[in-house]
Amino acid sequence: MSPFVYTANPSRVVFGAGALQGLAAELEALGARRALVLCTPEQTALAHRVAALLGDRAAGVFAGAVMHVPLAAAQAARDEAQRLQADCAVAIGGGSTTGLGKAVALVSGLPILAIPTTYAGSEMTPIWGLTEDGIKKTGRDARVLPRTVLYDPELTLTLPVPLSVTSGLNAIAHAAEGLYAHDGNPVTALMAEEGIRALAAALPVLLHHPQDPDARSDALYGAWLCGTVLGAVAMGLHHKLCHTLGGSFSLPHAEVHSVVLPHAMAYNAAAAPAAMARIARALGAADAPQGLFDLARRCGAPTSLAAIGMPADGLHRAADLAVTTPYPNPRPLDRAALRSLLQRAHDGQPPQQ
Ligand code: NAD
Repeated sequence: MSPFVYTANPSRVVFGAGALQGLAAELEALGARRALVLCTPEQTALAHRVAALLGDRAAGVFAGAVMHVPLAAAQAARDEAQRLQADCAVAIGGGSTTGLGKAVALVSGLPILAIPTTYAGSEMTPIWGLTEDGIKKTGRDARVLPRTVLYDPELTLTLPVPLSVTSGLNAIAHAAEGLYAHDGNPVTALMAEEGIRALAAALPVLLHHPQDPDARSDALYGAWLCGTVLGAVAMGLHHKLCHTLGGSFSLPHAEVHSVVLPHAMAYNAAAAPAAMARIARALGAADAPQGLFDLARRCGAPTSLAAIGMPADGLHRAADLAVTTPYPNPRPLDRAALRSLLQRAHDGQPPQQ
C-alpha cells in the first residue's frame, strides 16, 4: 500500500425514496428556524412543496438559481436571505441551485441543507463557483459544504432522460479523474469505482424506463459517491477542459462532460494504467476510454462538441486556454496533443490513445 492522506468532508447524508419527508426533522437537527428555500424558476412548484413541508420554519422561496451562479443572482439571493433573516438555506435542485446556496453561505456562513435532483454532485463538495463578466471563479471553502444532504430518488423521476444521461456522465467524470488524482487514496478509489459501476448500470436502464425506481435509486447512489470523490481529491485535465469549454464558449455543462470524458481518459490512459483498469472493470468494458465513449453513444448522449455548439475556429483558443494554469494531471499537458484531442472531440470521433 502506498502512503496516502485521506480527509473526509463532514456532512450528514440521508438517502432513500421518500427521504424528503424527513426534511423538517433534519432542519430541526441543524437548529434552524427560518429556512430560505432556493430553486431554479423551473422548479418553483417543487420548492413551494418543500416550503409547505417546513411550515413556519420556511422563511420564503427564492426561485432565482441560474447556471454557473452569475454574481447578480448570488447578490439577489444574499439580499433575500438577509431581508428574511434566514438562518439556513435549503437548496432543492441541481448543481446550479446548490451553487446558489453556496454563494449565500460563502458570505453569511448560513448552513446549507441540500436536496439534489440531478447527478452533478455539488452537494458533496466544498467547491463554490461564481461568474462575473463572463468569467467563472471557483474556490474551496469549508463554509459552503452542505451540512445535510437529503437524497430522495423520487425527486429525480422528473429529470428528463437526456439530462439524466449527461448528468450521470458528469458524475462519472468526477470518479474517473478521482482514480488518477495525485492526492487520491484507497477510500476515494473505492467510492469512485463503485460510483462508476452504479451509474454505468443504471443509465442504460433509465434510457428506456425513466421511472424505474431501482435504476433511479442506483443512479443517485452513484452520483453521491462520485460527488464525494470530487469533494475530496483534485481534478485533472478533463475538468480543466470542461471548465474552459463551458466558461469561454458557453457550452452546456453536463453535455460538455459527456463529450470530453472519453478523450480526456484516452489522453491519460498510458500515464494512469491502474485507474484505467478500475474504470474499465466498473464499466464492464475491455478499455476505459472506448467503454465511456460506447456508454455515451448507447445512451444517446452527444459525442461531438460541434453538435453542442462549439465553433471549429475556437479550437485553437481552447487548446491555448487548456495549457494555461493547468490542473494537476498524470500526463504532462502538450498543446499539440490537446489540439488534436479537441479536434477529435469536436468531430465526434472515438477516443484515440
Ligand atoms: P442545473 O442545476 O443547471 O439543472 C439543469 C436544469 O434541470 C434546470 O432547469 C433545473 O431546474 C432542471 N432540473 C433539475 N433537476 C430536475 C428534475 N429532477 N426534474 C426536472 N428538471 C430538473 O444542472 P446541473 O448539471 O445539475 O448543474 C450544473 C451546474 O452545477 C454548473 O454550473 C456546474 O459548474 C455546477 N457544479 C458544481 C459543482 C461543485 O462542486 N461546485 C459540481 C458539479 C456541478
